[in-house]
Amino acid sequence: MENDLQYKKELSYSNAKNINLTLLIIHILLFLLFMYLKASIMAYVNIVSITIYTIAFYVIRKKWYIIFLRMVYIEILIHMLLASIIMGWGYGFQLYSFFIIPNIYYSNYLLRQQSKPKIYPLLPSILTIIAFLIIRFYSFYYFPIYNTQESTKLVIYIINSIIVFVFFILYLINFNNVVSKSENLLQKIASYDELTQIYNRHKIKNLLNTAYLNAQKSSKKFCITILDIDNFKLINDTYGHNGGDFVLKKVASILKEMSSEELIVSRWGGEEFLILQTYTNMEKSCIEMIRKLREKINATTFFYEKKSFHITVTCGLATYSPYLSIDSLIKKADDCLYIGKYSGKNQVVVK
Ligand code: GH3
Ligand code: MG
Ligand code: MG
Repeated sequence: MENDLQYKKELSYSNAKNINLTLLIIHILLFLLFMYLKASIMAYVNIVSITIYTIAFYVIRKKWYIIFLRMVYIEILIHMLLASIIMGWGYGFQLYSFFIIPNIYYSNYLLRQQSKPKIYPLLPSILTIIAFLIIRFYSFYYFPIYNTQESTKLVIYIINSIIVFVFFILYLINFNNVVSKSENLLQKIASYDELTQIYNRHKIKNLLNTAYLNAQKSSKKFCITILDIDNFKLINDTYGHNGGDFVLKKVASILKEMSSEELIVSRWGGEEFLILQTYTNMEKSCIEMIRKLREKINATTFFYEKKSFHITVTCGLATYSPYLSIDSLIKKADDCLYIGKYSGKNQVVVK
């Protein structure tokens, strides 16, 4: 988990660096373009932009991402306004507003994931729309300062639109990757028990539902076992809570060793584990397997803080029946477990 979070930080660091480098290159090219067009005011504007993106490398290195984002936002917005007013609508600099808005939300998403203070995306989005409309009105009433050939305008308009589209696609690809990585991580956290690293109650409940539906419409039946460690309180009292945790982890690892596609293990809660076994026509072999499992745990020597000891477990087992709901089946397994507990523990009870 630590690694995943670290990964996201790195992702955002290298992302910011790449974005900054790309923006720097674009502005150097724009500077050359405006020099070529003899639009000296815009060339000066781009010298300022190049200075901003050079300073931004330092800001990124310091991991001041919010300052970096504000710098980029203000630079693009002002550059877009000036370029459109000075050069005119025909160059397509106003198209950058379509690039700005999704990136404001994307940056907000990334920063929120890293528990950084929130940025408020609505305000800069509205300002971007206002800037776009100002450009539209201004260019309707006033002529631009510089005027070049229509063919030059067309070429620059096409270059600007390609840049905006490419950035848009790259942004969507990136966003997709980040979202699916986060989803996978959340899925993992939601499915596994933190202590024992086997499935948790939430996940096994979903698997039970699937097994139940399959059993209703196919020959693949299932049985469930609730396995409870005997006298666990005494283990906690004798070896401390950490000793108890150690036993839970060890029992989970024994269960995991026995697990397969037909035998899924989970931590049901406290010192109880739920085992889901699916079978086609050998219900008896499931029971046999649980008996073996009990014996295996029984035969395992636990070493904790230079002391060795053995533990026992009691299991209650219930087999699928079309007349019983999942909850009733769990209750049946639980009833069996209690019968086992009251008749001396360390046994498998099947009803
Ligand atoms: P029985 O043989 O009848 O099952 O008795 P028991 O002592 O095993 O069961 P009981 O329900 O009396 O006690 C279970 C104890 O398990 C109580 C609780 O403090 C402890 N426990 C629950 N979860 C954890 C855990 O995650 N770690 C540790 N160390 N102890 C836990
Ligand atoms: Mg218990
Ligand atoms: Mg117990």
